[in-house]
Amino acid sequence: MNNQNLELIWSKCLAFIRDNIQSEKEFSTWFGSIVPIDLKNKELTIQVPTHFIYETLEAKYLDLIQSAFSKELGPNVKLMYTIESKQKQASGIRSPKFQAKGNLDFQNQKRPLNIIHSENPESIKISGLKNEHFSPDLNSDYTFENFAEGDSNKLARSVSLEVAKNPGGTAFNPLFIHSKVGLGKTHLVNAIGLQIKTDFKNKNIIYVSSEKFTEQFIAASLHKDRNKINHFIHFYQQLDVLIIDDIQFLMGKEKTQGALYNIFNFLHQNNKQIVMTADISPKDMEDIEERLLSRFKWGLTAEIKKPDVETRKNIIKLKTKNLGLDLNESVLDLLAEKIDSNIRDIEGAIVAILAEASFNKVPINTELAIGVVSRLISEKSTPEQIPFHVIEDIVVQYFEVDNKDLRTKTKRRDVVEPRQLVMHFTKKYTNLSFQKIGKLMGNVNHATVIYSVRKVEEFKLHDRIYRNTYDAIDEKIKNY
Ligand code: ADP
Ligand code: MG
Repeated sequence: MNNQNLELIWSKCLAFIRDNIQSEKEFSTWFGSIVPIDLKNKELTIQVPTHFIYETLEAKYLDLIQSAFSKELGPNVKLMYTIESKQKQASGIRSPKFQAKGNLDFQNQKRPLNIIHSENPESIKISGLKNEHFSPDLNSDYTFENFAEGDSNKLARSVSLEVAKNPGGTAFNPLFIHSKVGLGKTHLVNAIGLQIKTDFKNKNIIYVSSEKFTEQFIAASLHKDRNKINHFIHFYQQLDVLIIDDIQFLMGKEKTQGALYNIFNFLHQNNKQIVMTADISPKDMEDIEERLLSRFKWGLTAEIKKPDVETRKNIIKLKTKNLGLDLNESVLDLLAEKIDSNIRDIEGAIVAILAEASFNKVPINTELAIGVVSRLISEKSTPEQIPFHVIEDIVVQYFEVDNKDLRTKTKRRDVVEPRQLVMHFTKKYTNLSFQKIGKLMGNVNHATVIYSVRKVEEFKLHDRIYRNTYDAIDEKIKNY
């Protein structure tokens, strides 16, 4: 496609996106610096300035971008990112982040952010892999140097360093790191992989998200060649270091767990290193086979806690230094004091401050930082808590269904819709975790809850009638 066409299409997508974003500033912060690079075979490549902006786009704006694409280019458009990091050379084209309609939608699950590849079954080449074909899939930004230390992550960081120095040779095997979202698990385990890759050139390392691992396993088991499963298991058994992220995704997936069990045993017996992460500790995991769970606990389990103010300060110092930015102490203190949720929010605040300063062509000073931070905090303030039973009753009455029906696993549309809405509104109006909501809904897997919550957002975006229904119920819940 020639450049003019590409730019025209991109500007139309942008116009749609701008229309659907509340403020001009928000739009320019996240979309202002994107450069369209290429469009061919329904694959649109865009260049974003930092990994962080890319993550924000995926976290917050994926549905919107998807709608813009479907409108301009029809369905099944793939989005590719190239990330141009200021401190580094461009880190090259990332793999497809989403497909407008995922073709491996076995769990109907939206892809989490940190998945590097989304592959379809045909493209998974797991058979006959030679060692030189091991592609570790590591993110080159996530190094130990870029990982700030603090009390909240001291243990996890130091054992990670030990493991990186001596993979398979310490008592920390498996190394199991857990934390709430956005506190640095993926970064830290990547750092382990990168360090080993540098220091031990001959070792085979793979970083894989549990979602991708599951996709590969399912693709192999559905394949007409029955040997594919063995190839799959054999492929992972050849590793020296297996880093598998977000193990909680395997909850309830018995067959995939079985495959991991085989791989785990083989690697462990051969003193190969296994590193795992999850958003909960092994002892709180449900729907994971006991034989596998007990193995998770063999080595060391380390938690990354919510960063305290000193850690947050260290993180901000490091991030801003990497951006070539010299914040004065009072701006630093302000950010560290006020943004206390997770590190992604801290990064968001830094980028927002940068964007605001460059947008208004003013220097970064305390006043500007206060403005940005207070805006971010008010945007984030959590809505009032509303009891689950109130939410459920309102939805049930609206749809004239029975509370009991909501707790069945039926796929009937007249039940699925209210069920998804109850999960969505419960997430919106309570502090309950996905897992707790799953329990309340009749022991539904937490991945299903996440899926439902996102599905509602997607429908809302695409379907006006659905949006009206949503708004009507939302109004009732707010005014109960
Ligand atoms: P998780 O996997 O726990 O959800 P990530 O590893 O994706 O979290 O971290 C979220 C973001 O925060 C990433 O951009 C990561 O680089 C950054 N981050 C997390 N912990 C630190 C740290 N200690 N120092 C610097 N950056 C960090
Ligand atoms: Mg992660």
